[in-house]
Amino acid sequence: MTCGACVNRVERRLSRLEGVTATVNLATGRARVIHPGSVSIADVLAAVTEAGYSASVAADAPIAAPPPAADERRSGQDLAVTAALSVPVLVLSMVPAWQFADWQWLCLTLAAPVATWGAWPFHRRALHGLRYGTATMDTLVSLGVIAAFGWSLWALFVGGAGERGMRMDFTLLPPASDAHAHMYLEAAVAVPLFVLLGRRLEDRARTATGSAIRELAALVPDEAAVLHPGPTGKLVEVTVPTAALMVGQVFVVRPGDRVPTDGVVVEGRSALDVSHLTGESRPTEVAPGDPVPGGSVNEGGRFTARASAVGADTRLARITAAVEEAQAGKTRAQRLADRVAGVFVPSVLAIAVTALGFWLGAGADPQAAATATMAVLVVACPCALGLATPTAILAATGRGARMGILIREPAALERLRRVGTVVVDKTGTLTTGRMTLLRHEAAPGVDPAELLSLVGAVEAGSGHPIARAVVRAAVEPTGPPPAVADFVSDPGVGVRGLVEGTRVVVLRPDAEDSPPLPDALRTALREADAAGHTAVVVTVDDEPAGVLVLGDSPRPGAARAIRALERLGVTVILATGDRAGPAQAIAAEVGITEVLSELGPHDKAALVRGLRLDTPGRAVAVVGDGINDTIALGEADLGIGMGGGTAAAIGVADVTLVRDDLAALADAIRLSRRTATTIRANLGWAFGYNVVLVPVAVTGLLNPMFAAAAMSVSSLAVVTNSLRLTRFRTRRPDDANQDST
Ligand code: ADP
Ligand code: MG
Repeated sequence: MTCGACVNRVERRLSRLEGVTATVNLATGRARVIHPGSVSIADVLAAVTEAGYSASVAADAPIAAPPPAADERRSGQDLAVTAALSVPVLVLSMVPAWQFADWQWLCLTLAAPVATWGAWPFHRRALHGLRYGTATMDTLVSLGVIAAFGWSLWALFVGGAGERGMRMDFTLLPPASDAHAHMYLEAAVAVPLFVLLGRRLEDRARTATGSAIRELAALVPDEAAVLHPGPTGKLVEVTVPTAALMVGQVFVVRPGDRVPTDGVVVEGRSALDVSHLTGESRPTEVAPGDPVPGGSVNEGGRFTARASAVGADTRLARITAAVEEAQAGKTRAQRLADRVAGVFVPSVLAIAVTALGFWLGAGADPQAAATATMAVLVVACPCALGLATPTAILAATGRGARMGILIREPAALERLRRVGTVVVDKTGTLTTGRMTLLRHEAAPGVDPAELLSLVGAVEAGSGHPIARAVVRAAVEPTGPPPAVADFVSDPGVGVRGLVEGTRVVVLRPDAEDSPPLPDALRTALREADAAGHTAVVVTVDDEPAGVLVLGDSPRPGAARAIRALERLGVTVILATGDRAGPAQAIAAEVGITEVLSELGPHDKAALVRGLRLDTPGRAVAVVGDGINDTIALGEADLGIGMGGGTAAAIGVADVTLVRDDLAALADAIRLSRRTATTIRANLGWAFGYNVVLVPVAVTGLLNPMFAAAAMSVSSLAVVTNSLRLTRFRTRRPDDANQDST
């Protein structure tokens, strides 16, 4: 495929199949096809072939495959030969003083191979299209070359330009009629030369943008050193292909090595470079028990880790898949551009034929008529139009991924730009989610140690930060907890279960079935609230048995992130399931004024629904990490998951902050706004260029050679403009006060 018109053709042909929807991406050369069982993959491939293109089923591997080197070298050589043959023709045509006797015949000798062999790719694809009754950009280029070269042949052999001593002036405007016909050999060589050159530069640029995925995929080492019991039972190190690693196996990571897969440190301490996942360049310290993501670089000492996820389940693989997904999708702007490009080529052909007919019919010199037709054919190629949006999306999503911002689909990028309100969750989002059990108060007559062990047993079934804190404090020092039956987790409320016949419930203090508390516990609760700590109530066999008090701290940089969001004109609201005391304490610390507390999962969703109604035209984003946030995440215009959050939250999120840092959200919004500006500029340029130059060409006032140059420059301008997004930078705190976005 070479342009938006091709995309349109393939999509149309595919969607003609019963029940099939298809999205084709020019920048990646991939199609995503959703088809019912009644349509086989062979049917889909056949439809693409029928449209005049070829297709194969994509391997599971990401778009990674680097461009075939041999092919690239060949096209480079072709370009060099074409240039070597073309330049003398261009120079001689443009500098009358150097036009020696019979110069025109030398030009013909040099131009002939360019117009035939050099332009062969265009002729071939045009012919191919013709066979399937379709016209593409290549049709325009091919016709332009044939017209210019054919006209020149006529001028030389019949029109008198072949006479010895013929001189030809070069003008910006097409030449007026003369004693002899004008040759257009310079246009015949310039069109293939400039278009080939433009495409080559464009390919380079596209490879550069697509490389984000390729780089990610390359991060995983091919082999892993696994500790495996040998014949004597002693653990020996064996090297296995990374693809053969299994969950639970223990692998060794040496200094300087890359971690082969996601795991948890078993032994040893080190510092890891995880910048590929998070965009954060500071190394992270890891010790036994800490997670290590696959693909990170070991900058410290040797350590061993137990594989916790392999293959497609690793964080890196999920990131790669998400980036690819995002780049394969389309925005509304892109669909529009594709549709326009689809009718563009036929329109241009019609305009060219009309121009020819008009000029001849009006009795104009055939020379002027031919000039106008050639210029129209060449200048109107809709390359720039087809590239305007996909290159910008590709650059932006790739850049986002490198900064630790995963954008699931281009539409999310579009919504991100309109974010006016952000609802943030407290635990795990604003705070580190690494809670600690500060104290536990037992009701009169209850043994505190017994209380802790009962709570630890039920909480072992939950992944909530509260649960993890209790388990760390109560279970890990004493060994495996007693078994729990009838375990129920009520997101945003608490957990319950039977521990050796005893019914244990851990609850939000204000929850509906929370019992009236004895004085000692009420005092503990009040003190916790006043101190801004989180408290939960425990009942044992329906009797109030104790209060646990937990502490959490805001994420470093949370206050800065909130300020950054507000500078972007975004309203930040804290919505938490926790009580007012701790909610207010954190809010004050990070600088949020709007606080809503004691909200269950459905209350959060209702809040989001209300906000969306209140602010039509602006998007409401929800940032969350827990299972309790998933309903609200789904309800929002834009669900934003924290990278360290639960799989459930990340699963419904449109954007994931892999960096696990709210500041990334402000970056994401700035990136989306910048992308929108880029796309608008690209489309403006691409449309504007055609709107201005096509009429000029029709009136016969454009030298076809300049038409070719202008066409190539317009695509290049678009690609270059998009590439600027790959240099988009996070705003550092020290230049924060220059923020003006
Ligand atoms: P946030 O909105 O701040 O992330 P959640 O909605 O996850 O908080 O939780 C709200 C409240 O529900 C907690 O403050 C706690 O009182 C209670 N809760 C939730 N899960 C648990 C659990 N596993 N154990 C005890 N209490 C819980
Ligand atoms: Mg939470």
